[in-house]
Amino acid sequence: MAGFDKLSASQWRGEVGEQSSAYFHAQIPRVSAQVAQLNATATRSLATDTAKILQTFTYKGGFASQAEAQAWLKGFNNNPQVTAQLIEKAQLLPEPQRTQWLTRLSAPAYVARMTRKQALAVNINLSQGQLFNSMLNNRNGTFGRIAEDGYRRGFFDISRTAGLAFKFDRLPQQKINAILNGAIPQKYLWYFTTEWASNNQAVMLEGILTGKSAGNIAKGLRDTIPGQEYRSYRYVRTYVTSTTSVADTLAMEQAGLSEYEFYATMDDKTCELCGPLDGQRFTLDEEMEGENSPPIHYNCRCRKVPIIPGIESANQKRIARDADGNTIYVSRSMKYGDYQKKILGLL
Ligand SMILES: [Zn+2]
Repeated sequence: MAGFDKLSASQWRGEVGEQSSAYFHAQIPRVSAQVAQLNATATRSLATDTAKILQTFTYKGGFASQAEAQAWLKGFNNNPQVTAQLIEKAQLLPEPQRTQWLTRLSAPAYVARMTRKQALAVNINLSQGQLFNSMLNNRNGTFGRIAEDGYRRGFFDISRTAGLAFKFDRLPQQKINAILNGAIPQKYLWYFTTEWASNNQAVMLEGILTGKSAGNIAKGLRDTIPGQEYRSYRYVRTYVTSTTSVADTLAMEQAGLSEYEFYATMDDKTCELCGPLDGQRFTLDEEMEGENSPPIHYNCRCRKVPIIPGIESANQKRIARDADGNTIYVSRSMKYGDYQKKILGLL
């Protein structure tokens, strides 16, 4: 992982975007640690609730057989206590989730159809909603000035490389909020919390089916916390890739630039989607995140580089990794396909 960071930190030398790229990649470990903290808090709280969740479903110290556990999971007695507990939990959610869940939980048809397994899923989904909201509430603290810094640094990178003093306007708070609250960051946040919820649900179901005690299931949940740190890292990397890309677009617009080049990372981990995009040029008019603008996928490490007319030097180098993982510099004009053939020795 450390190797990745170093490579991503400075993808190119003497190229527009070099400094801001280094800055953003330096933010990832710090921000990931904060996200991992929120994630751990939510997991511990779910672990603390485990006994209560299982008790409510009349789980008492394990099953005699797997068949018995499965039979138990299928049946649901429409226990008013279960519904009451879920409603109590839903009350804690902020709007609009609160109303959505309360409506759903109090619909007789829904409660009647709900199996025990689904009831467990509802509990976990409500916890996911709580994690989602705690992350939204902490977003300004965790991601802080990334959007604004992205714009400012992107803009100064362009000015410095072009050797021109473009007129710089601060990004209005409204635009910063729009970047932070945009549909795309929300989508990645949802993806992150969904992964969290399905992992926890799997741990709980496995525990129930193998007759583990509530205490052991809770321990199993807490044991996943260290492994979740890398998931936090991936989420933050995706968020930073997305935010810097939007900020770069705003900086390009401010500087009057209209074309960018897609940059993938020159190592053996770059995927089949991003590799072929490397070196392709697009205009801001045709830019589409996920199609020709990063992130192309969750955990994408790509970046776009503004094209400044008249500032393309044949001597420019870009950073890469050789087949043994050592840092090397290759010609700026080398594209990922050539890199795979010439440096990694692939066909
Ligand atoms: Zn990518």
